[in-house]
Amino acid sequence: MSGGSWDGSAAMAILDALAAHAAILDPNGLVVATNRAWVAFAEEHPSDPWRPPVGRNYLEACEQAARSGSGEATAVADAVRSVLAGTQARFHVDYPSSTRDDDLWFSLRVSALAVEEGGAVVTHNDITGRKRAEIKLAHQALHDPLTGLPNRTLFLDRLSVGLARMERSQAAVAVLFLDLDKFKVVNDSLGHDVGDQLLVAVANRLRAGLRPGDTAARYGGDEFTVLCEGITSESDAVVIAERVSAAVGRPFSLDDAHTVLTSSIGIAIALEDGCSPEKLIQEADTAMYRAKNRGRARYELFSGVIRQRAIERLEVENALHRALERYEFRLLYQPEIDLADDSMTSVEALLRWQHPRSGLLSPSDWLPLAEELGLVVPIGAWVARESCRQVAAWHDDSDRRQLRVTMNLSQRELVQPGLVDGFLDAAEATGVAPTCLGVEVRQASLSQGGEMVAATLKRFRAAGVSVAVDDFGTGSAWLDHPVDTVKVDLSTIEDDGDGRVVSALIGLGHALGMRVVGKSVETAEQLDRLRSAGCDAAQGFYLGHPQPAEDL
Ligand code: GH3
Ligand code: MG
Repeated sequence: MSGGSWDGSAAMAILDALAAHAAILDPNGLVVATNRAWVAFAEEHPSDPWRPPVGRNYLEACEQAARSGSGEATAVADAVRSVLAGTQARFHVDYPSSTRDDDLWFSLRVSALAVEEGGAVVTHNDITGRKRAEIKLAHQALHDPLTGLPNRTLFLDRLSVGLARMERSQAAVAVLFLDLDKFKVVNDSLGHDVGDQLLVAVANRLRAGLRPGDTAARYGGDEFTVLCEGITSESDAVVIAERVSAAVGRPFSLDDAHTVLTSSIGIAIALEDGCSPEKLIQEADTAMYRAKNRGRARYELFSGVIRQRAIERLEVENALHRALERYEFRLLYQPEIDLADDSMTSVEALLRWQHPRSGLLSPSDWLPLAEELGLVVPIGAWVARESCRQVAAWHDDSDRRQLRVTMNLSQRELVQPGLVDGFLDAAEATGVAPTCLGVEVRQASLSQGGEMVAATLKRFRAAGVSVAVDDFGTGSAWLDHPVDTVKVDLSTIEDDGDGRVVSALIGLGHALGMRVVGKSVETAEQLDRLRSAGCDAAQGFYLGHPQPAEDL
C-alpha cells in the first residue's frame, strides 16, 4: 500500500482488498493514495498512462493519455475537474487499453469522496472478459461463420454508408454479385467438406484481392458480393470484376488435388443519388443471372446492356399491344404440293408483324415475348379468323374448292380452354368446313403439354380438323396424340446427302398410318428423293416462298 500523505489506514486497508485498481485524489487532483492492484498494474504496464503513481496529478495523466491517442481522455479530465469542484457526483466510461500484447478493456469510474476536505476516488475495473464476449457476439451477428467475411446484414449496412458517402463525392459505388458456377457438382463429387474448404479459399482470395476500403461479403450459399467505392467509370468496375474473376479462377490445391472454379459476376453501378442498397444488389443479381444464361464464367454489366434490354422489351410489349389494336399482323401463305399430282392442296398460314418502322418481322423476333405476355392467345384467335376468311374467299374461286389452310399453334394456345370452340366458331362464321382446316404443333408442345393438349387435339380431330406434328423424327411424344400428318424437316436432318434417314422417316410415318410431308425443300434433288421415297407432299422455297394471299 502506498499511503503518501493521506492519512486513513483503515480506508486504505479496504482499498487494498479491492480487485479494482483504485486511487484517491486530493481536491487538486493530486494522487494521494493508490491500492495494491493499481500499483501492480502500473508496474506491469509502465507505458499505460492511466495509473500515475502517488505524487502525480491525475489531470496530467489524462493529458498524457490524450497524447497517446485515447479517445476518452478529454472527457475523463473534464469529469475529474467537475467531480473535484463538486458540480458532478460521479462519472463512468469504458475504454480499451492496448498494453503490450494485450487488448484490455477497463471501466473507469470517478466518484466524489464524501469527506469534508473533498477529493475523489478513481477506479479502473477490468471488464475485458465481458467486452470480448460482447465483441464476439456483435461479430457473429455480422459475419459469416464459415468464411469470416461480412454477412448480408453487414454488407447492406456498408453499402448504405457507401451510397450516402457517394452523394457527397464525385465517384460512384459499384456492387459485384458473384455466384460460383456449378458448385453443386463440386459438393456432389468432392463432398460437402471440400465444398466448405473451397468456399473459405474463395473468401480468402476475395479478401486478399480487394483494394483497402472495399468490402467482400458472403451473401449466401455460393454467392459473394463486393462493394467498391470511388468508381469513376464502368471500366473501373469491369477491371475489378476481371481481377476478382481471375483470382477465383486460379486452381485451388486441396489434398494434392487441383480444383478449378469459375464464377458468374453481375456488376451494377449506382449512377444517380438516391439509389437504394436493395435495388443495386437486385440489379447486380439480375446481371449475374444474365452471365449464367450466357454461358457462365463471365461477367455482365447491368447498367448498359440489360437496362437497354429492359427498355427494348417494354417498347416491344407496348408495340405488340398496339399491333393487335391496329391490325398490324399479316398472314403469308406457303404452298404445300401434293406429290401424287403436283397440285397445291394445302397452304400453311405463317404469321408476320408489319411493324410501322421496322417492316415485316418474323415471329422469332417477338413471339417468345408475346408468349410470355400471354398475347399469343388473342393473336392466335386473329390468325384463326383471318385464315378462315381467306380460305373461304379461295373456296369461292371454283379452282380452289378443296384448298386447305393449316395454322401453327403454340403450347400456350394449346392449353387455352376456349381454343377449339373459338377455332370452330371462326370456321362456322365464314362457312368453311373444318375438314379444310389443319393445325400444326411442335413436338416440344406435345411433350410438355400433358393431358390438356391431348384432349384439345382429340377435339380438333373429332371435328374433322387435321393435326400435324411439325418436327417428325425429333421425339416420340406424338405417339400419344391423335396426329394424322407428320412433317419431316429436311433442314434439321443430317442425311449425308444420300437421303436414307429421310426415307426411313417417311417409311416409318406410313407404317404408322400417317400422311408424310417433306418440308424445307430447297433443291430439285431433294424433291426427287422425297418423290422416290413415296412422300405424300412437299413444301419449301423450291416449291414456293411464303407469300401474300393475292400472290399465291
Ligand atoms: P450455377 O452455376 O447455376 O450457380 O449452379 P450451382 O450448382 O452453383 O447452383 P446454385 O448456385 O443455385 O447453388 C449453390 C449451391 O452451393 C447449392 C449448395 O449445394 C451449395 N452450397 C451452398 N451453401 C454451401 C455451404 O455452406 N457449403 C457447401 N459445401 N456448399 C454449399
Ligand atoms: Mg452457383
